[in-house]
Amino acid sequence: MRCSSCASPAVIDQPYRGAHACADHFLASVEERVRREMHRQLPRFGRGTVAVALSGGKDSSVALALSHRYFRRRPTVRLVAVSVDEGIADYRPSTLRAAGSLAEQLGVEHHVVRAAEELGTTVDRTVGDLPGTVPCSYCGVWRRGLLNRAARDVGADALVLGFNLDDLAQTVLMNLVHGDLDRLVRMAPHRIRQPGLVPRVAPLASVPEREVYLYARIRALPFDHRECPHAGRAARNFFRDLVWKLEEAQPGTRQSLLRTHDRLVEQWLASVPVERPAVCRACGEPAAQDLCRACEYLRIARVASEAA
Ligand code: SF4
Ligand SMILES: [Zn+2]
Ligand SMILES: [Zn+2]
Repeated sequence: MRCSSCASPAVIDQPYRGAHACADHFLASVEERVRREMHRQLPRFGRGTVAVALSGGKDSSVALALSHRYFRRRPTVRLVAVSVDEGIADYRPSTLRAAGSLAEQLGVEHHVVRAAEELGTTVDRTVGDLPGTVPCSYCGVWRRGLLNRAARDVGADALVLGFNLDDLAQTVLMNLVHGDLDRLVRMAPHRIRQPGLVPRVAPLASVPEREVYLYARIRALPFDHRECPHAGRAARNFFRDLVWKLEEAQPGTRQSLLRTHDRLVEQWLASVPVERPAVCRACGEPAAQDLCRACEYLRIARVASEAA
């Protein structure tokens, strides 16, 4: 297999664009796609603070490395990596070590927030308190809240997330299947600013997951491969398989799902007034109801633990 742009051996095929790429052309194409996404999602951003959510896995490590590359010639932009320790013993300590290594290698300031300190509990403890509940449901809600808080605390104007093309296509499909228009509109990348919420950007939105992995390997970025011990129970797994099957049968499905999402959001924002989020009565964070979902899960876990 030869590169479609030069005679060198190809390292990857890209069926969605009917091409093969050698290492050099592959790296250049990922960097160019990310540059374009950054430009589209953060237009005219020449001054301020950008936080990057860094878990230590491949996606967020690539997001940090490429954000660093994108902003490195802009001394007026401060880049900060923020990590969340949800308290998952066989997993998070090692991914946080990888996160720390990459931040140090790039010379990027790194902050870690811990669920045990901020919420008074951990995911591992809650798995014991709520054995019938899928851990990703509360873990994801808590992590999003802690990341937002950490980004706000460092004065960030934007929060970069490592969502790749596959992640976003899965989320669009999940929300469509569940008929959840609200979540569909609120998905990253954010088009609107809401009080208390740091706008999220997703510069890897046009990079498929396996290309993110290959990019991390070729650039020799430190990242941790291990999978969370609770991941097997995630509802997302079904949609991951489904998107894969659709993509195999119909290359370009993931990009089509994202385009559909873009158009739906544009039409929604043009026709429906944006409501200011309410404020959670327990923690003061933005909330859709009286109690935010993070506090609601904390309440349920506390009740279960007291009853045990
Ligand atoms: S797989 Fe689920 S439980 Fe594990 S870190 Fe991710 S969201 Fe949390
Ligand atoms: Zn080439
Ligand atoms: Zn709350």
